[in-house]
Amino acid sequence: MKKALTVAGFDPSGGAGLQADLKVFQALGVYGLSAVAALTAQNTQGVSAVQAVASGFLKKQLDVLLSDIVPEAAKIGMLLSSRNVRAVSSIIQKYGLKNVVLDPVFISSSGKRLAEKEVPWNISKRLLPLCRVITPNISEAEALSGIRIDDPVSMRTAAEVLKDLGPEVVIITGGHSEGEPVDLCYDGKFHLLKGRRVRGEFHGTGCTFSSAVAAHLALGSTPLEAAKKAKLFMSKAFSKAVDAGHGMKVFDI
Ligand code: PLP
Repeated sequence: MKKALTVAGFDPSGGAGLQADLKVFQALGVYGLSAVAALTAQNTQGVSAVQAVASGFLKKQLDVLLSDIVPEAAKIGMLLSSRNVRAVSSIIQKYGLKNVVLDPVFISSSGKRLAEKEVPWNISKRLLPLCRVITPNISEAEALSGIRIDDPVSMRTAAEVLKDLGPEVVIITGGHSEGEPVDLCYDGKFHLLKGRRVRGEFHGTGCTFSSAVAAHLALGSTPLEAAKKAKLFMSKAFSKAVDAGHGMKVFDI
């Protein structure tokens, strides 16, 4: 059985963060491991409060886990604090984790800050060099690259800048832009991954996509294959989204 680890935030609504990631791993036939980096109080209408797990305790969770089980892939999501960025960076190096997928999380769809101010800088310096794949959306790619993205050319430039910071493959997800959603995958060559716009607001799209990429890497796909399979998985997830609460839809996968 292949195993994938998620290091992310705790979402009581089950639509994003650790809970969403574990559901994706399960759906794709990968055994899920998890370590919690941040707690949130939220529902489908928005995030009300956040609290970082102490970085020493995050490290403890990972040390105890990884000294026993080595995952074939790891997904990193909401870390909230710069201390947690440093903790995860040192753990990845200590255990030589492979197939690390980073989904940077800075702000929720509902507008709540999910990262301290210096987190993007710390991620650029300390985590990007250790990642195989990163999956920022447009605003996260802007925060990490320092490049304003307002057309396909600037999107490509940002992808090149981000790849130069270390990851083998950069996937800038275009779901939050106008028009048909096109993800840009850059592995030294540019690939456009087209999707169909689905009506409605959805909670946890970034988490669901990135954990599907990690699961497929764990199963042996190349990053480009994993990205294509994760897109297909997303289109199934969109078709199965439900109104669990009174706000955004969540994926019932
Ligand atoms: N809560 C947690 C724990 C998350 O990891 C994320 C996003 O990654 C969110 C909330 C925000 O999710 P969304 O912007 O899809 O509502």
